[in-house]
Amino acid sequence: MSTTLTPILTKFWDDPQSWTLETYERNEGYQAFKKALGMKPEDLVQMTKDSGLRGRGGAGFPTGMKWGFLPPADGGPRYLVVNADESEPGTCKDIPLMMAAPQFLIEGVAITSFAIGCNHAFIYLRGEVVHVYRRLLRAVEEAYAAGHLGKNIHGSGFDLEVTVHAGAGAYICGEETALLDSLEGRRGQPRLKPPFPAVAGLYARPTVVNNVESIASVPPILLHGSEWFSDMGTEKSQGFGIFSLSGHVKNPGQYEAPLGITLRELLDMAGGMRDPEKQLKFWTPGGSSTPLFTAEHLDTPLDFESVAAAGSMLGTRALQIFDETTCVVRAVDRWTDFYKHESCGKCTPCREGTWWLKQILGRLEHGQGSEEDLDKLLDICDNILGRSFCALGDGATSPITSSIQYFRDEYIAHLTEGHCPFDPRESTLFH
Ligand code: NAD
Ligand code: SF4
Repeated sequence: MSTTLTPILTKFWDDPQSWTLETYERNEGYQAFKKALGMKPEDLVQMTKDSGLRGRGGAGFPTGMKWGFLPPADGGPRYLVVNADESEPGTCKDIPLMMAAPQFLIEGVAITSFAIGCNHAFIYLRGEVVHVYRRLLRAVEEAYAAGHLGKNIHGSGFDLEVTVHAGAGAYICGEETALLDSLEGRRGQPRLKPPFPAVAGLYARPTVVNNVESIASVPPILLHGSEWFSDMGTEKSQGFGIFSLSGHVKNPGQYEAPLGITLRELLDMAGGMRDPEKQLKFWTPGGSSTPLFTAEHLDTPLDFESVAAAGSMLGTRALQIFDETTCVVRAVDRWTDFYKHESCGKCTPCREGTWWLKQILGRLEHGQGSEEDLDKLLDICDNILGRSFCALGDGATSPITSSIQYFRDEYIAHLTEGHCPFDPRESTLFH
């Protein structure tokens, strides 16, 4: 596998006017959509299946297969909903993508809508990012003005309306069914699955819900072919993806690369650790809801299978890097506070469990409590994992169980010293 970056979605982000339709069209923009309009929708679904594209929002579900789950057309509406509610701690790829090159997403929406027979698509955006909302509105406006959206697009007879909707700032609305409830005007809480949205989604109609990066990857796949895409990456995790490096790294940012690249290779490209004298201590392969990795995982290929075999999840490829100055207990306490705050309250294991986890972690971080608290933490995690209504509860347990697995001694050191053994003046994160 090549270690070279694959600048496709990030290709012209450095262009001073990267977000305009003019820049996009100068870089082959909307060629793929024009090609799609001359194809049969079912061939577009097949092409996406053949490419091996897997959902880039975290779960890695095959995108073409998801489109194929829609029931046969019955004359009623069917919808495409783009999940742009990027909120997982450390995850920061969709927001820069929508800021730098929003037309990738809009062209992807147009192609996908044509493929699945949708005439009204929605982009559900995280509410806090007002600047992205404005950028998307402007980009959609530009696409309408150029005739890429609207009625009888390019004389094809295909109509498409696109609505950009901003949420109200709840992490749970990134869960696809909570997102649909929120879009329908209700309080966002997960629905029971099945039925999956493909069968009964928005307004109980067949709906495809896809992540921003998944949809933005569709135009290049159509332009260059499914084989071009599937030749990149690994056998089961094909193509490229955006890896977001943050924390104690010299050049944090977005690195687009084939799946299967390693953190060691990415760190080389990112200039190494921020302070080369300091050792890598722990990192997240896919955001804070994926079990932590340590320096021993530097050479683990970052593809769905290899990361799972090593005990974690590729998730959103949000690589948060922490050096030896960071207190892992404090980091986990902060993440747990987030999950406690964002728990929607619908099910007891998560609503009550995350509250208790936070109480115990808070006292441990301050050197209070006892060694038995570690077993209590693991016991609560065990009662949340697999017993909560949606993935939020499970995700909340990941940093706790993995940090105890790798850094039990550090938890104990808090208790024996009666305070956090780390000097807050040394660590630049979580203080
Ligand atoms: P999931 O595995 O339950 O589902 C993945 C997708 O496949 C969904 O769209 C689902 O509808 C579809 N699907 C699965 N089985 C299906 C079937 N039999 N028929 C039809 N459709 C089917 O995962 P999830 O709960 O949607 O997502 C969990 C992931 O979200 C986690 O892995 C995490 O990495 C990620 N996540 C991302 C963010 C972010 O900010 N991007 C935030 C939190 C979590
Ligand atoms: Fe709500 Fe948490 Fe239950 Fe999900 S797991 S439904 S976020 S309470």
